[in-house]
Amino acid sequence: MDFADIAITFDKLESTSARLEMTDILAEFFSRCPAKELRSIIYLSQGKLHPDFYGVELGMADKLVLKAISLTSGKPDAVVEELWLKTGDPGQVAEQLITKKKQMTLFSEPLTLDRVIKSLTLIETAEGKDSQDRKMKHLASLLHDSGPLEARYLCRIVTGRMRVGASTMTILDALAITYATKESRPEIERAFNVTCDLGLVAETLATDGMEGISKIKVTVGDPVKVMLAERLPSIAEVVEKMGGECAIEYKYDGIRAQVHIGKDSVKIYSRRLEDLTPNFPDIAEAVKAHFKGTEAIIEGECVAVDSETGYMQSFQEVTHRRRKHGMSDAVKEIPVRIFMFDILYVDGKDMTNVPYLQRREAIKEWFDISDNVQMSTMRIVHSVQEAEDFFEDAVNARCEGVMAKSIADTSIYRAGSRGFLWIKYKKDYQESLTDSFDLTVVGAFYGMGKRAGKYGALLMATYDPETGRYGTVCKLGTGFDDAFLDNLPNLLDMYKSPEIPQSLDAKMQPDVWFQPAVVLEVVAAEITLSPNHTAGLGVLKEDTGIGIRFPRFTGRVRDDKGPDQCTTVQEIIEMYEMQSHDSDGLS
Ligand code: AMP
Repeated sequence: MDFADIAITFDKLESTSARLEMTDILAEFFSRCPAKELRSIIYLSQGKLHPDFYGVELGMADKLVLKAISLTSGKPDAVVEELWLKTGDPGQVAEQLITKKKQMTLFSEPLTLDRVIKSLTLIETAEGKDSQDRKMKHLASLLHDSGPLEARYLCRIVTGRMRVGASTMTILDALAITYATKESRPEIERAFNVTCDLGLVAETLATDGMEGISKIKVTVGDPVKVMLAERLPSIAEVVEKMGGECAIEYKYDGIRAQVHIGKDSVKIYSRRLEDLTPNFPDIAEAVKAHFKGTEAIIEGECVAVDSETGYMQSFQEVTHRRRKHGMSDAVKEIPVRIFMFDILYVDGKDMTNVPYLQRREAIKEWFDISDNVQMSTMRIVHSVQEAEDFFEDAVNARCEGVMAKSIADTSIYRAGSRGFLWIKYKKDYQESLTDSFDLTVVGAFYGMGKRAGKYGALLMATYDPETGRYGTVCKLGTGFDDAFLDNLPNLLDMYKSPEIPQSLDAKMQPDVWFQPAVVLEVVAAEITLSPNHTAGLGVLKEDTGIGIRFPRFTGRVRDDKGPDQCTTVQEIIEMYEMQSHDSDGLS
């Protein structure tokens, strides 16, 4: 397939924000795609050569890309640089300077998908002496045979700026329409949730149809989308919702780890599918050593403990393990324990369809327990009183609350879904009306007075997985210390966007826009209806969104969460309802 054909489709996707229109564009395009090329096209549409969890980024520096543009277009460095400063997007620079597709010459080669993938692979794997120069030349050679549109996307792909706006959910819709039926959509989504590999799902569907999809199972090495919990405002409601009886576990304040124990290796994935193995080499080794079988996937929470007292430390401590350098010192300085709470696979058996209590039994059966590899503390409760007593124990043990888990026969592990099979209840809920929010930064306002010239406040948004769009909920200007403010450009500037990001709806106009990427934890006094914000616009009241009042940054950058894993619109609406319900109770 010609890369130009693919670029035209990306452009069409980029010029609409309507999900149905995107689905139609994709479905029409997929119907023309050769099955064997579909996988690469899907990865490219997300700016990658591999599934998300692969961990290798193309990540060419902007300067290097500008050099390739200058070389191909024959424009002086200064012109290229000026345009880059103006647009902030090497894609737009390339599009404007590489004006039209050149005549085929002796030195031209057609720009096919195959050629693009081969060159991008060379860019990705170039190492050692002169590697930067080689990367630049591989890109220049592609640009030489590109038209403006192809150049736009090539430069966005290599610099990690590829965002055509079609969310995973939209791509799944289009795949179902093209290769199966709308009714098969949940089964296709299940296959994605247990492999996190959209390219694999698309290729399987295009090649073997739904029969192939039904054979996709949990596999060691492919991260599984994590199961998530709902929340309720009181322990009494949790117990009632669970039918008067449930399991209840400590909710540890650490980092979720999905540990894949293979025959020869161990990998730990975060909930956003990053490879955490380099950060927790001790945990990887210990979990494998405590396992009595050959292959398994377990989940647990990694928690830092005080090396002297053995007390559990806060989340902040364990995040120090995310530093890339000095890991051997960090392993000694910040001892970490894992509290295992689930098992998804063990020696040939997919455990995701097995009820909760049997999964728990399986952890006991297959793992030895020690100080640093433990099971989450759990009790079966039959009354609100028992649950409240357990909650107190959890808080005394320095946990952030409890996780109630259904023990019904239906209590399977629902990959990628948030539901009432698990319900969280945190001690924060007792102190304020609302839970904390994980929100993504989409804009910044320049400060005044002491903060002049710096980012002084941030525009924060939440995600709606049903529409694949972001909507704003607050302007955040409290809770930052000077060091954090000084560091904000380092954290945010690589996501600067010359205009409002395509996936965002906003009424406010900040000084600088950012692509949704960075997630911050925020607490707030109240959730209100707001005419200025766009999250959940029109859901509760016409032309009115949901806003949060008196937001304050807690100091936690949630780099374990991607922007599409931030608190969802639906959760905020639920919290709003919980809050009104609470105040009803008080009045
Ligand atoms: P939240 O991030 O507030 O939505 O809470 C869900 C997170 O709690 C999970 O992703 C886990 O990282 C964490 N967690 C801590 N203890 C447990 C537990 N016993 N069971 C399940 N999740 C837990």
